[in-house]
Parts: sequence; structure tokens; C-alpha cells
Amino acid sequence: MHEYPITEQIVKIASEKAKENNARRVTRITLVVGEYSGFIGESIQMYFDIISKGTLCEGAVLEMENVKAKWRCPSCGIDYIRKPLSFACPQCGQDGEPTTIGKEFYVKNLEVET
Ligand SMILES: [Zn+2]
Repeated sequence: MHEYPITEQIVKIASEKAKENNARRVTRITLVVGEYSGFIGESIQMYFDIISKGTLCEGAVLEMENVKAKWRCPSCGIDYIRKPLSFACPQCGQDGEPTTIGKEFYVKNLEVET
């Protein structure tokens, strides 16, 4: 449900950028969605279809790059994707710490038609 306001923002920003560039419409929006960003890609897509109607974003392809959360081992210093039900480092077995990888959420790229 909280994807609604964020999707509104995406449509607003993309439409403004298109206008700035004298584009006729937005053709593609690439989003980076981290596993722990708190946002669900399917929900954003659903709201996007509704909100974009009648805007410069109508009909644009919403592309999502999903980022898996990574953990960092305090001993080895490596970043890794944890296995289900485990936080253990794949090299030494010590429990890792969460990193910022997987929390990202942003518009990476925008394609417009002029
Ligand atoms: Zn380790």
C-alpha cells in the first residue's frame, strides 16, 4: 500500500524530466529496488499503470533491477548473499553484519521519445 505515494513521485519526476527535455513521452523507466528497500516491485507496477494514465509516462515500460541484500563478514571482509535461515560467512562460518546493499531504491535511468 505504501508503494502508492512513491509511485506518484516516480511518475511526477519522470514527467517533469520529459518536459524539461521537450520529450513527447517517457518510454522506459529503470528502477533499482533493493530486497530490503521495503518496496514491492509488483505493487509499484500496479500503481504505475493506474497513476501514469493521462501523463507523459503512460505506456512506459517500468523496468526493475532487483538487488539482493548482502552481508559482510567481520573477519574476511567479504560481502555475500546469505543462505536461508543463516547469517554465516561462506568462507569462515562467522555471522556477518548487514550492509547497505539491498536497501537501495531509486530511478536509475529514464528513456524518452522526442
Ligand atoms: Zn568470513
